[in-house]
Amino acid sequence: MSRALLVIDMLNDFLKGNLRIPEAEEIVGRVKRLIEVFRSRGLPVIYVVDSHLKGVDLELKLWGDHALEGSWGSQVIDEIKPREGDYVVKKRRYSGFYSTDLDLLLRELGVDTLILTGVATDICVQHTAADAFFRGYKLVVVSDATAALSRERHEKSLKYMEEVYGASIASASDVEDMIAKPQP
Ligand code: ZN
Repeated sequence: MSRALLVIDMLNDFLKGNLRIPEAEEIVGRVKRLIEVFRSRGLPVIYVVDSHLKGVDLELKLWGDHALEGSWGSQVIDEIKPREGDYVVKKRRYSGFYSTDLDLLLRELGVDTLILTGVATDICVQHTAADAFFRGYKLVVVSDATAALSRERHEKSLKYMEEVYGASIASASDVEDMIAKPQP
């Protein structure tokens, strides 16, 4: 079993900008810790990031301009910037798989299990989880390293992913323990 950490939309616009998710601030430390754990074990860290085309992308009509290609809002927050050896996959829809090379990258890396972190639990995390499930990946959603616009939306989405995609719901410290254990 080979695992990769997905860090979804931990961008300036969602943490500090015009589509701010207040609860997201609380998860930064745990996401950072998981990134360090994965890097230290030589496991892939993949940032999946909104990068929208102004005036074109459908999502912008619903949510207003956010994470526009090349803007400050589309950059990963300074606290957890990608480093050499990490991967960055840009997306223009909620799902990290839609019209991106995420699936190709994961297959080339030999990954079969995705550890999902980031925002928003019930939007980009959940749609990425759906597409991962359709493609046969196993899923672990980190309950205290994901966040949504409300606690209720967060909890509801975790439950949904557990029931409908067979995702395991785990805490960041559970994931850390799992990674520390020798591979079967
Ligand atoms: Zn977006």
